[in-house]
Amino acid sequence: MTSGLAALERRVAKDLALIAYPERDWVPPRIGPDGARCLDVLIVGAGQGGLVTAFRLLRERVGNILLIDARPEGEEGVWGDYARMVTLRSWKTVTGPDLDIPSLTFQAWFEAQWGEAAFAALGKIPKEMWAAYLLWYRRLLDLPVRNGLRLERIEGASDHVVAHLASGELLRARKLVLATGIDGTGRWWMPPAVERLPAALRAHTADRIDFGALAGKRVGVLGAAASAFDNASTALEAGAASVDLFSRRPELQRVQPFKQMSYAGFFRHLADLDDAWRWRVMRHLLNLREAFPKETWERATKHRNFRLHLGAPWLDVGTEAGGVRVSTPQGGHRFDYVIAGTGLDIDLVSKPALRQLAPLVALWADRYTPPVGEADERLSRYPYLGPALELTEKAPGAAPFLGRIHLFTYAATMSAGPSGASINAMKFAAPRLVAGITRDLFREDIAMHHRDLLAYATPEFDLDGSR
Ligand SMILES: Cc1cc2nc3c(=O)[nH]c(=O)nc-3n(C[C@H](O)[C@H](O)[C@H](O)COP(=O)(O)OP(=O)(O)OC[C@H]3O[C@@H](n4cnc5c(N)ncnc54)[C@H](O)[C@@H]3O)c2cc1C
Repeated sequence: MTSGLAALERRVAKDLALIAYPERDWVPPRIGPDGARCLDVLIVGAGQGGLVTAFRLLRERVGNILLIDARPEGEEGVWGDYARMVTLRSWKTVTGPDLDIPSLTFQAWFEAQWGEAAFAALGKIPKEMWAAYLLWYRRLLDLPVRNGLRLERIEGASDHVVAHLASGELLRARKLVLATGIDGTGRWWMPPAVERLPAALRAHTADRIDFGALAGKRVGVLGAAASAFDNASTALEAGAASVDLFSRRPELQRVQPFKQMSYAGFFRHLADLDDAWRWRVMRHLLNLREAFPKETWERATKHRNFRLHLGAPWLDVGTEAGGVRVSTPQGGHRFDYVIAGTGLDIDLVSKPALRQLAPLVALWADRYTPPVGEADERLSRYPYLGPALELTEKAPGAAPFLGRIHLFTYAATMSAGPSGASINAMKFAAPRLVAGITRDLFREDIAMHHRDLLAYATPEFDLDGSR
């Protein structure tokens, strides 16, 4: 470890000590039917969203918590996996996991090791560096993570939920936070004709792809959002003979409307708006493709064997002579391999861990009928969450335990704006989530807190008999 980092770690410890008040854990033990104490909160997913939730809970002195993640330590999240960009798309001064503690920011971590001048010279944050920062954060804060545990099923009980793990272990928790990532409540979607192609000929941008095997091959990419470009560039860098990228729309999305909405009012208060306004705002944002930064554009277009086709939907797709045949309004193409950058569909049923619950959960379609002209079938399938991102019941009274399950994933976007699965909203969303959790725990235990108050009899000082 560099001396700069060691000094920073001492500063973090000091900062946390300075704001430690109130220091007492306060949630009374809840004993489960097996005689063991239930966790106060179980967080599934130890990516950035799970980690920040845990840190916030610990700062609120909810200490009986656990994070689990299916993957090994250091391999959580997308950064070492299918995030195929060189740098984050966010700007380098974005904060989030630090929860407003300056010494815990990415910038502090970076400058402690490479200095202020290096930070000033840095363009955007290399994704590996972001992953390394998250690992440092987790270890320094000693967040209680158990890796290699996969949630398979959730069962409701009267005063807790039961998490069934793939290992056979059961974890009982009063509250469950699903911080399972951008696709934790949905599935990556491809047009059915592409999906029907043999698996050896096609992939989604979120799949593991053997790019080395694409050397010398003709690759077709469908979609013109950031990930489509990143996959095109990765194939070109791996030596693909050519990459053709196809956009259904006649123009590239170069405007990033989320940038216009990057202000505290939106991040903190979208969830406080009525349904009509939430629907109107989020429908506009979610129907635009995510614009990509200049670096993404330049990385692909510097290759002479990269070709962009605008206004070119794939009308027909099939196999031919061991490859893929694609027809567009402008003509036909032959590829050795195709990659679909066609996004994500929110669909609770697609996740094994949520399949049983899904029919009980209220979706936007169950709660809100948009005015004529604003209907959107895709968005109506997002879950309709409560103010602390908790699931709500499709039929009131049918499954009250759903209120114990909070979604800190992309699926929360319709109800609360960016929250989980987003760095820039984290500093607003994690406190909202945790305040909802602590509110519920406190309310549920108020009789016990009251009893303890009445029983409290610790004198501030002893009486001195001589006076
Ligand atoms: C290609 C790409 C680029 C992105 N770039 C940016 C960017 O520049 N800026 C930005 O703000 N956001 C970006 N995002 C969005 C977001 O920041 C990332 O998706 C980020 O990884 C989300 O963090 P998370 O903690 O919510 O989920 P993840 O980091 O995905 O972590 C979820 C964890 O949950 C675990 N898990 C899932 N299911 C289970 C289960 N059943 N049991 C146990 N564990 C489970 C997974 O193993 C995983 O480790 C990007 C997303 C993608 C896909």
